[in-house]
Amino acid sequence: MLKDEADREPALPIGRLMPFDSSERRKTYLLEFPSGAKLRISAVAKKVVELRWRGEKPGAIAAKITAGGDERSVQYVDELLARIRGLEQNGIKQPDPGFGLRTTLFNPSTVTRMGSAFAWAYSKPALVVNACIVIAALLTWFGARPERRAPHLEPSVLAVGYIAYFATLFIHEMGHAAACVRVGGRPGRIGFTIYLIFPALFNDVGAIWSLPRHKRIVVDLGGLYFHSIIAAIFALVGITLHYASLIFAIDLILLTIVLNLNPFFKFDGYWILSDAFGVHNLGRETVKVLKSLISALAGFERFKSPWPPLTSALLILYAGATAIVWSFFAIRVIKALGAQLHVILMTVMPVWSGGHALTGVELRHLGFAIGGALLTMYLAARILRRGLNLGEYVKLLRSGMRGRGPDSKLTGVGDESS
Ligand SMILES: [Zn+2]
Repeated sequence: MLKDEADREPALPIGRLMPFDSSERRKTYLLEFPSGAKLRISAVAKKVVELRWRGEKPGAIAAKITAGGDERSVQYVDELLARIRGLEQNGIKQPDPGFGLRTTLFNPSTVTRMGSAFAWAYSKPALVVNACIVIAALLTWFGARPERRAPHLEPSVLAVGYIAYFATLFIHEMGHAAACVRVGGRPGRIGFTIYLIFPALFNDVGAIWSLPRHKRIVVDLGGLYFHSIIAAIFALVGITLHYASLIFAIDLILLTIVLNLNPFFKFDGYWILSDAFGVHNLGRETVKVLKSLISALAGFERFKSPWPPLTSALLILYAGATAIVWSFFAIRVIKALGAQLHVILMTVMPVWSGGHALTGVELRHLGFAIGGALLTMYLAARILRRGLNLGEYVKLLRSGMRGRGPDSKLTGVGDESS
C-alpha cells in the first residue's frame, strides 16, 4: 500500500474496540470513545474502523471489505466514519423519556472511591457472613411476637423511619457501585431523578457494557444485595431492641425491592432480564421481534429475528406480559382519576345548587381530591409520553432505520446502522 502513503490522513485510534457479550446470532462489537459513549457495531463496521485506524482511505477500505466477501460501498464507509467522527466529538445524546430531571449527588471519582471501600462485600467470606445475617434476621423476624413485627406507628416513628429508609436508598446505589468496582468496571456518578412519579437515586454504570454478561448481572443485582443486608440488620436491631422506626423502614425497603425487581419499568429487574436474555435494548428489541411476528402471522413476510429461537420466544412472552402490565397500570390510573373527579363533583355540586358554604371537612376532602387528581393526571401524562415513545420506535422501524438506543443504562450504547 505504499502508493497511498502520500495522501493518507492521520487517523489515530480514538477509543477502543472490544467484543460485545450478547445472545445475538451475529457477532457484534463495542466501540468505546474516550467520553465513555459506546457504539455497538457489526463485524464489518469493526473492520472499517480498524482499517481507518491504520490510515486507510474510505475508497480503499470499501474495496478491501468487498474483496473480503462483504460488498460495501464507499458511501457506507463514508457515512459510518462520519457518524463515528460525530460521536468522537459530541458523544451520544440520550433522550431517555423516563428520566426527566437528573441531578448529580456524587461525581464518578467519589463514587469509585466509595465503591472500592465496599467491594469486599462481594468476596466469598463476606457473601457467607451476609447470608448468615439474612438467615438470622429471618429467624428473628418470624420468631418474634406479632406486635413486635407490626408496632404502633406514631408520627415521630414514621418520620425517623422515612429518614432511615432514604439512607438505605443511597446504600442500594453503593451496592451497584461496589459491584461495578469488584467486576472491574468504573462506576459513574450517583444522582437523583424522578422516574414516572417516583423519586429515585441512580448510579450510572454504563461502563459495564464492555464486560461479560454474568459480570453485568452481578452489578444489576448489587443494589438488591446491599438493600437486603440492610433490611436484615434493621430487622435484627428493630426486633431485639424494640425499635419501631426500623420496622417501618423494613416495610418500605421490602416494597422498594419488589418494585425494583419488576422488569416492566426501567428499574433493576429490567436490567437483570436484559442481561440474562443477552438483549442489550430490551424495550426496543421486543417491539422489533413482536412486529416481525405480527407481519409473519399476517402473511406479509417470514418471521425473522436477530436472536436465537429461545431468546425470541422469551422476548415475545415479555412483550405480552409488558402489554398486560402497562394496560393494567393505565386502567388503574384512569379509574383513580374517575374516582377523584367524582369526589370533586359530589362536593362542589351541592354548593352550587343549594348555595351553602363548604364545611371544613368538605373543604379538606376537596383539597385531597384535587391534589390526587392533579397527581394522577401528571402520572397519566408521563405514561402517555412513554406510550408516544413506543410510537417513535415503530416509526423508526417503519423507516428502516436503526435508532440510537435511548434506554441503555444511562450512558448510551448506540447502534451502528448496517
Ligand atoms: Zn438498583
